[in-house]
Amino acid sequence: MRDCIFCKIIEKKVPSKLVYEDDKVFAFEDINPQAPMHILIIPKQHVANITEVKDYDLVGYIYSIANKLAEQKGIAKTGYRVVLNMGPDAGMAVHHLHFHLLGGRALHWPPG
Ligand code: 5GP
Ligand code: ZN
Repeated sequence: MRDCIFCKIIEKKVPSKLVYEDDKVFAFEDINPQAPMHILIIPKQHVANITEVKDYDLVGYIYSIANKLAEQKGIAKTGYRVVLNMGPDAGMAVHHLHFHLLGGRALHWPPG
């Protein structure tokens, strides 16, 4: 989608630190990490947010990739968090569906 920063990252028109890519999803390091490991996992197809999702299998698939990356990065046992921000109160800033995979430190609860 034009003017979507994450679509530009997928198309590699904007550089990113790629972590994982397949035909459905793209995962890359967050530019402003909130934990030692902070990866964004996004669908390649532009979907604005979770309320716009038509194919919920894709959401399950993204979770499976999150678990796989946590395993690969060695934080599966210590723990990790998968976060989706929806709307202004949650601080959603980019309007291309994305899941934050956070780990590598003890994460506070409740989140701020
Ligand atoms: P949100 O608040 O919308 O859930 O999260 C958006 C995330 O995208 C933020 O954590 C922010 O740091 C990250 N982000 C925004 N622009 C870029 C970018 O151009 N490159 C990368 N790697 N991350 C970005
Ligand atoms: Zn997009």
